[in-house]
Amino acid sequence: MSEQMHERLTDEEPPLRTTCCIVGGGPAGVILSLILARNGIPTLLLEAAHDFDRDFRGDTVHPPTMELFERLGLAEEVLKLPHDIVSTFTLPGQNEGKNSISFAHLKSRFPYVMMMSQAILLDFLAKEAQRWPCFTLIMQANVQELIFENDRVVGVRYKKDGRMHEVRATLTVGADGRSSRVRRSAGIEPVKLTDGIDVLWFRLPRHDDEARGIMGRAAAGRILIFLNRGHQWQIGYIFPKGNFNHLREEGIEAFRESLVQVEPALADRVHLLHDWKDVALLKVESNRVSEWYRDGLLLIGDAAHAMSPIGGVGINYAVQDAVAAANALVEPLKNGPVPLKALAAVQKEREWPTKVMQNIQAAMQKMLVNRGLDSSRPFRPPFFLRWPLFRRIPPWLISYGVRTTRLKVPADSVSPQSKP
Ligand SMILES: Cc1cc2nc3c(=O)[nH]c(=O)nc-3n(C[C@H](O)[C@H](O)[C@H](O)COP(=O)(O)OP(=O)(O)OC[C@H]3O[C@@H](n4cnc5c(N)ncnc54)[C@H](O)[C@@H]3O)c2cc1C
Repeated sequence: MSEQMHERLTDEEPPLRTTCCIVGGGPAGVILSLILARNGIPTLLLEAAHDFDRDFRGDTVHPPTMELFERLGLAEEVLKLPHDIVSTFTLPGQNEGKNSISFAHLKSRFPYVMMMSQAILLDFLAKEAQRWPCFTLIMQANVQELIFENDRVVGVRYKKDGRMHEVRATLTVGADGRSSRVRRSAGIEPVKLTDGIDVLWFRLPRHDDEARGIMGRAAAGRILIFLNRGHQWQIGYIFPKGNFNHLREEGIEAFRESLVQVEPALADRVHLLHDWKDVALLKVESNRVSEWYRDGLLLIGDAAHAMSPIGGVGINYAVQDAVAAANALVEPLKNGPVPLKALAAVQKEREWPTKVMQNIQAAMQKMLVNRGLDSSRPFRPPFFLRWPLFRRIPPWLISYGVRTTRLKVPADSVSPQSKP
């Protein structure tokens, strides 16, 4: 770490002064930090947790993110980290094979979804950023509030080891996820969009002769999504919002039975779910803010828009926000306060593709999820997904959407050893 790189304001109460203070070390915050540091911008990343480990927080890496890593010269190293490659998605009622939705048609050097633990990926990227002395990472730094001066955000107050600390920054970026405290402190309220479902995540062993891709199964008004994690299945159990207490009341045995009802092949392993502690609840939220910025402040990633889990695009969109922010901010950050128009450019670049994707997710929920949760009739995929040519659309939409934001600033304009 290079905390000493950030000038101290006073001797008594030593707030740190930096150029860009990023709150939240998720995919959005870490990737923005990395690109800014590589361009010589003094950057301070504050992360509330003591490490990057968070189970079931989405471990999908999409083709544009791999293409970004390639641009940063990191793709080969990322591919050396433990991961699984998934290139097909099989809809409920179909078998893996020619009916699957395949990522293999994408025109990319990485035509697949890489499944990699966020802990491993974020740890790698943060270590990479730390090679640049203008980057500082402070873990267990829980940001409490923004600091305002004349209506301008000039930094944050954070709690670490039971004490309050202050950071003064030219720009503060809220990348602190769906419950963003930065957003709340700025008085920005997200608008809630469609929800209606929740998901329970758990893991069970996967046998070597089982499907290799992502698989959906639906029966008796229940939907299961299977993600291939090598020797394990990461399984999502989708159910109507608010029904978790009812499921709990019915008991874990009834839950195990309902899994077998949907996928009989699980009968030999559901006993490994001993109790509800083996299951994590994701309360599905979909929302977005209408203002991504204030003077001295920018929101990106889930802090600006929580995505529905349909299509698993949350990380992809958080990463592209980070790229858009880097594109718009690297030059202004070299020259003092960031003009509002540079912050507005980030919203302009990313708001539209985000809105379109959220609308697509809402439509997919109606066409796929609500059909699967309807126990009165057997699930049938929408007619257009039964045509081979149309099955090429979802992988392209999930990966690239209506706009893909590419890195326009240099991948690195200062060498790792040089001072900013
Ligand atoms: C259970 C679950 C499963 C998911 N599955 C998928 C999936 O399969 N594919 C996918 O693409 N997306 C998935 N998502 C969504 C995905 O995790 C998010 O869209 C993505 O991580 C957003 O990235 P982010 O960097 O904006 O925010 P986050 O990843 O939420 O990161 C925010 C960071 O800020 C930190 N933080 C929060 N408050 C503070 C504070 N006050 N001070 C300092 N730090 C703070 C948090 O500790 C966290 O590290 C899933 C989400 C959940 C909850």
